[in-house]
Amino acid sequence: MKKTLISALLINVVLITAFTSNTDISFRLGAKTCTVKYQENKKSIATLLSLHDNENTAIEAFNSLPKEISFNLFEIHQANERWLAYRIHQKDYFFDPNRIFSKTGIDSTLKKYNQGTVIFPTEITTQIKKFSDTLLKVFNVRNPNKYIISIHNNTNNGALSLIDYIKPNKYYKEAKDVFMAGGKDLDDFFLVTELNDFNYLKALNENVVLQSDNPNDDGSLSVYCGKNKIPYINIEAEEGHKNQQVSMLKIVYDLLKIR
Ligand SMILES: [Zn+2]
Repeated sequence: MKKTLISALLINVVLITAFTSNTDISFRLGAKTCTVKYQENKKSIATLLSLHDNENTAIEAFNSLPKEISFNLFEIHQANERWLAYRIHQKDYFFDPNRIFSKTGIDSTLKKYNQGTVIFPTEITTQIKKFSDTLLKVFNVRNPNKYIISIHNNTNNGALSLIDYIKPNKYYKEAKDVFMAGGKDLDDFFLVTELNDFNYLKALNENVVLQSDNPNDDGSLSVYCGKNKIPYINIEAEEGHKNQQVSMLKIVYDLLKIR
């Protein structure tokens, strides 16, 4: 049973042109699937990972990049929502795809998104962990860089901002350092795991958070990368801030060129 779920990885090549190729990759989530839309571009420097299906400004920013700023895009789709659903015994269990990179994270995201459910199917945590392992494996072979670059959007009504990482706010223990740039919207910021990258972005007067060396294990990709010494950058912009996110992507492109 477990083996069937993991091997149920289907790849359909949809379109190949001289400069780009688009591939759909399907992953099983119990009796449901989710699809990764993978766009590969010539001479791409890294692959951008978009975990949240409802965060579309980041995708528009990617699509607005000039030709010389070349990334690939690895974008998760299921229901155009932040969460994904795993279906087992005709019931859907919801989870945040950015909380699945540890078993602790999976257990807490399942509790958070399925309030009222007391007993979960015994295999569900393991199956979602296998999904996240496969997802990373499939991503890694399509990423031409040692960095993992993720793209996210937040909303203006308090979902996430640079302020959350400053003492005494909710995530201050998750940050080793925070730089607040003058004249920049606090919803547009970078989160990095390497001190070098923090200093680089700070010198450019960009909002940036340096993740703590010992962050709380919430199952997010940044924490997974921190633990596994994988250099990581999250490019986080407010919904609708397409131009700002285009500039942020260009900044990361230049940073990667010298790393
Ligand atoms: Zn997100």
